[in-house]
Amino acid sequence: MPSFSSRLIAWQRQQGRHHLPWQNTRDAYRIWLSEIMLQQTQVTTVIGYYERFLQSFPTVQALAAAPLARVLEHWSGLGYYRRAHHLHAAAQRVANDHDGVFPDAPGSLMTLPGVGRSTAAAIAVFAFGRRAAILDGNVRRLLARHHGIEGFPGLPAVEKTLWALAERLLPRQHLETYTQGLMDIGAQVCTRSNPRCASCPLRADCVAYRQDRVHELPTRRSGKAPLRRDFCLLILLRRDGRVLLEARANQGIWSGLWSFPECENNDDLADLIRARWGLTLIAKTARPAVVHKLTHRTLHITPVVATVQGRLRAAATARFLSLPEARQCALPTPVRRLLGQDRFFSAT
Ligand code: SF4
Repeated sequence: MPSFSSRLIAWQRQQGRHHLPWQNTRDAYRIWLSEIMLQQTQVTTVIGYYERFLQSFPTVQALAAAPLARVLEHWSGLGYYRRAHHLHAAAQRVANDHDGVFPDAPGSLMTLPGVGRSTAAAIAVFAFGRRAAILDGNVRRLLARHHGIEGFPGLPAVEKTLWALAERLLPRQHLETYTQGLMDIGAQVCTRSNPRCASCPLRADCVAYRQDRVHELPTRRSGKAPLRRDFCLLILLRRDGRVLLEARANQGIWSGLWSFPECENNDDLADLIRARWGLTLIAKTARPAVVHKLTHRTLHITPVVATVQGRLRAAATARFLSLPEARQCALPTPVRRLLGQDRFFSAT
């Protein structure tokens, strides 16, 4: 039987993806940008963000020189905002410490904020033709199934085994095609649910397939369920249709983004609104809670639409904005979704 890598390379040539916007280039900036955006986000979502980013920040120097708030605006909706903070910091590092030229060795790339071992390897392969192994979430799943590796892949011992395997499977040549093949087959064939084993080029020696354990591998994390947090987001509206947004602190979830103010479910809203912003509550309606999942937490958010009046107490972190202005801000995903629901804003 042909080797793992030669089957993967042959499959990628015939059935893999060849025309993504960040392919067919050796531009390390474009490749790095795409790799950061693709961490935990699917290709179809990333394409639009990637193109808008490049229009506004065509070079690493342009990105480094941009204010963080502008970078966050462009990132808004992609989620995992720490990646945007790291992106900006890494651009500044490349611009200032490396004269705007990305280092070509995986070890040097890993010194950049937000660039882990797998991302560094992908950049080194695609931008510089280096020989390095990737091991993102999709590749972990594929290798764990194909080689029948037990144990949750996030555990250090299991991760070590998977890295050793990823290194051992590397072909001597055609590294770019092989690496893209791993990414494509992980995203399109050996998917988390309903993998397409019938059309998989690796099926003949796949342990999980042979043992009918495809849905058992990789082993799931045992132990704690995600923490649950319940709170309200206050959609404070003036009669002129303007809505209040607050800049969040540069720490915690949604750091540096604009959001509806947050409060606890049992807060006295009239008191709170007067104390924090000097405004008077006229009417309020609680809407059904929405659920938003983060990696280790599940947020149960009750939107409360409240009509207020009065002069906003001077506060650098809060502003009344028109809906089009508010929708332009760097927003967490749940806030963006709520702002998109016109029925919340039509009754004022
Ligand atoms: S045969 Fe199925 S489980 Fe095995 S690698 Fe292919 S898609 Fe994944």
